[in-house]
Amino acid sequence: MEFKCVDECSQCCIEREYYPTKKFGKIGVLVLPEEKQRIESFAKDLGIHIDIIPRIGLSNGGKGPEKIIAYQMMGKDQNGNTCPFLDKNAKSPHGGFACKIYNQRPLACKAYPLIETSPITLDQKCKFCQTCPTADSNLNSEIESLIQIQHKMNADMPTIWRYATGIGEPDDLQVMKKGWIKQ
Ligand code: SF4
Ligand code: SF4
Repeated sequence: MEFKCVDECSQCCIEREYYPTKKFGKIGVLVLPEEKQRIESFAKDLGIHIDIIPRIGLSNGGKGPEKIIAYQMMGKDQNGNTCPFLDKNAKSPHGGFACKIYNQRPLACKAYPLIETSPITLDQKCKFCQTCPTADSNLNSEIESLIQIQHKMNADMPTIWRYATGIGEPDDLQVMKKGWIKQ
């Protein structure tokens, strides 16, 4: 079945998940190092406050990452939800809320809901995927974007670090950490 967004859905621009566990807090939209400055400058031009923090780092061992291969743009709500570029006063063609930087959005947004290219795997949290988990067409631009991300996030050092955001629901504050955690 052909992939297309569910009418009026904006779920993936609003809801943020704990990943890989609650201890790491909620994640933001993945932003590649080469995208960071561009996204920050769009935000500045639009007068929008954004917070882009580290997500994945690499090292040859040691006490912390020597290089960052991915950042993340955090949601603007206190619980980590809602992308700061989501425009609740405008609608997209499928009737969801519009993205203020749609043509320039991060590759991660262009790839979603695709999470694997071989075999093609969709994020089961996407509203479309909940009704049709095996969409197999109309995914060319998502596939291209995900392949670009995979090429650019080249893990050329043996130790991987994940940044715990410390952001989430008030009830979960006790279990969440903040800062780099070795994987
Ligand atoms: S990709 Fe999925 S979750 Fe996101 S707006 Fe489309 S249908 Fe909704
Ligand atoms: S940048 Fe745009 S497409 Fe990506 S999460 Fe934000 S509002 Fe949605």
